[in-house]
Amino acid sequence: MKIDHIGIAVSNLQAAVQKYQALFQKAPDHIEQIDNQRVNIAMFRVGEPSVELLEGTDDESPISQYIQKRGEGIHHICFDVDDLDAAIAAAEQSGMEKIPQDDDRGAGGTRVAFLHPKTTGGVLIELVQKS
Ligand code: ZN
Repeated sequence: MKIDHIGIAVSNLQAAVQKYQALFQKAPDHIEQIDNQRVNIAMFRVGEPSVELLEGTDDESPISQYIQKRGEGIHHICFDVDDLDAAIAAAEQSGMEKIPQDDDRGAGGTRVAFLHPKTTGGVLIELVQKS
């Protein structure tokens, strides 16, 4: 398992992309609107791990709600796993809780799951299976 990316919640993706592309001296490698997650994302591959900027697509988006409560900031850490179902099972066995979701499609056709911060030491953990 390795860290795939760190997700940063932002209130204005376009403005954040401008700043981060100046910092990284490159354009985002991937931009996507993920309807089922209610987010727009911009992924920068900057070595390992990547940096993912996330903006909510409406007020009900988990990202919008996060920003309303806590402001912009580091939102989640994502680990790349070979087998998502096995990783979820292992996490649940250790007492971590998967956040229920109707649909596990993530950016770029991946499958994703999220583990609740109250069961992981205060950090939202995303698991991604790429194949
Ligand atoms: Zn992510």
